[in-house]
Amino acid sequence: MNHLLDFSQEQLADWLGERGHPAYRVKQIWQWLCVRRVSDFESMTNLPQTLREELAGEFVLSTTTVAKHNESADGTEKLVLQLGDGGRIECVLLRDGQRRSICISSQVGCAMGCVFCASGLDGVDRNLTTGEIIEQILLLQRLLPLDERLSHIVVMGMGEPLANLSALLPALDMASSPQGLGISSRKITISTVGLPAAIDQLRDHATLYPLAVSLHAPNDELRNKIVPVNKNIGLTEIMQAADRYFDASGRKLTFEYVLLAEVNDQLQHAEQLARLLRGRNALLNVIPYNTVAGLPYQTPSVGSIKRFREVLEAAGVNVQFRQRKGDDINAACGQLRRQTVVELKTQD
Ligand code: SAH
Repeated sequence: MNHLLDFSQEQLADWLGERGHPAYRVKQIWQWLCVRRVSDFESMTNLPQTLREELAGEFVLSTTTVAKHNESADGTEKLVLQLGDGGRIECVLLRDGQRRSICISSQVGCAMGCVFCASGLDGVDRNLTTGEIIEQILLLQRLLPLDERLSHIVVMGMGEPLANLSALLPALDMASSPQGLGISSRKITISTVGLPAAIDQLRDHATLYPLAVSLHAPNDELRNKIVPVNKNIGLTEIMQAADRYFDASGRKLTFEYVLLAEVNDQLQHAEQLARLLRGRNALLNVIPYNTVAGLPYQTPSVGSIKRFREVLEAAGVNVQFRQRKGDDINAACGQLRRQTVVELKTQD
């Protein structure tokens, strides 16, 4: 069986055409999925019964099941999804005023090996398919009442999205298409550890989604230690690729910096970081570390966070300190991981 969500609008139109159905059925099917939020073909009542049966004979609409659904006191909800092959991924819905943001995964596990992050603790199993990525979006959307819409997507869950662009981009295109979820492409952010060749590839895509680059260190010596893939890349290359993406997209760059006590939170780090970002049209998102069971890293004290911030602000950096959300259910940044044995320890 094919996964319907792996098919683009064009592919679905072709499939329908071959069976004598008009192309406008694509729009209707997507409307049922994206706007009416149904999860089976039988509910698509404006399609002829024969077509509903043909679709059900050829396609599945989901291959994942919700293995766990946790709700945080702050309104954040996390889904642990079990994939068709038994793998598990996680995705999150965040509520903030009018905003309804979701954070989705791009891979089962992660190969980047950032020393402080839970997602890479067991390495990577595989890339997600387009269908599996869209399923996360649709399942999270179904947690909202029908009169509430998703407003933002961040690809900041498990995995390195730029290592899986061929599956990710069609999924994001469906999310941003007016025929799909109609979420403004400006509100769909891809976060990367910083892979220059893939950043360049992203520039060739028709829709230039905002890019966030996870820096975490202002110099290569430190970055090599905490973001091991940096050894083969280096900050100069990453910043140049980011600048090229900015030139092509005109979208402000976002850099992320997880603040780890005693590791990258000293005044000289803030000063170096300010120098690195000088002259760039950039927003710096500083995320005080969310602790991960079994890892030795700590959240800096309120005092050292404040000092770090003051240095950056004095240097004129456009900086924002991100609020932690959902950490009581391990749904905060860097706390998502493949659920295996750790489940018993870290969940519930
Ligand atoms: N691989 C991509 C996307 C996933 S991580 C990337 O590296 O950007 C999303 C963000 O959460 C990254 O900036 C990541 O470094 C950060 N993060 C990871 N572990 C964290 C933790 N324990 N606390 C806070 N942020 C964390």
